[in-house]
Amino acid sequence: METRKVALANRPNTWSISRRSLMNQCPRAWILKYGFAKRQGGFNQHLRNISDWSSAWRLMQRALRGVIIDRLTAHHRGNRWKEEDLAGKIRNRIIGALFRQKSVLEIIETRTGKASELRSQTSTRRVDRLVEIACYRFHAALQSHPIKDILDGRITRWYLFSRLEKTKLQNYDLHISPDLVWFSGFTCHVLRFAVQDVARLGEDKRLENFAMVEWARNQIGLPANPERYMVENLYWNGGKWKIWKEKCTHRHVEDAIKMIYSDMKAMRELHYKLGLSCDLSQIPLAKNKLTCRSCGHRDTCPGGENLYLAKLEQSALEMSKASGKFR
Ligand code: SF4
Repeated sequence: METRKVALANRPNTWSISRRSLMNQCPRAWILKYGFAKRQGGFNQHLRNISDWSSAWRLMQRALRGVIIDRLTAHHRGNRWKEEDLAGKIRNRIIGALFRQKSVLEIIETRTGKASELRSQTSTRRVDRLVEIACYRFHAALQSHPIKDILDGRITRWYLFSRLEKTKLQNYDLHISPDLVWFSGFTCHVLRFAVQDVARLGEDKRLENFAMVEWARNQIGLPANPERYMVENLYWNGGKWKIWKEKCTHRHVEDAIKMIYSDMKAMRELHYKLGLSCDLSQIPLAKNKLTCRSCGHRDTCPGGENLYLAKLEQSALEMSKASGKFR
């Protein structure tokens, strides 16, 4: 009874697309990032920092999204945009983030006593190349709908929103806001900059996008009727920016909310599985070794060294535990 009480006190209550995709890609990485969240300081803080480690490629994508939003903000406020500063702005964002992650590498190397596998991401040549890629994609984004239409004044009623905004759904905090909202006639468009995505969105990804409408319906001044929304993603794929869009219906929003409830249930079950003793050996590893390549725990997790072997060892351990129970 006592165990359950403590577990309930720390149980997960936040949903976002990034949390969902981390849980689906690697339950262990999810637990390391969020399972210890309520216990601050000391080693738990180190765990959080290691979990927050991002690859240089991911930092480039984040920097790109940041400068696109800065460009739109400057337009909205009537501020002059200095195009010649673009590469510097992107470089500062990437180098600043790499610098903040430096202490994470030092902690990992102190623990393992050897150079971290993650170090290869930080060479100057690699950063130069990433800045070039981001500049190219930035200029292409400015020529793409809806950004071009906003900058040229064809879209006049538009708003930017932060992804940190929270929407309440029962006891859960959802981060489901779009990056950009605009009106064309009777239709309200809600859009996320996905920065990089696959050509065809799966059913799950579609539903994640329709969750934006639940956020919008709770906002003063935006339509309450889901049928008035067009849900969109601007994403980079195959060397160019593409738009995915689909008209929303009541059914889409209902299905998105069902998906969120089912995710929250899965997150709580995973959290219970960790238990009070915080036994990580029970928590499943990544589905694909590509996930391990950009994971901050790569140096210290058995999956980071050899995912296939680590999975075999884990299932052998589970079998021996299960046979012990029935003896
Ligand atoms: S190294 Fe791989 S298995 Fe281990 S936590 Fe990271 S993604 Fe998961």
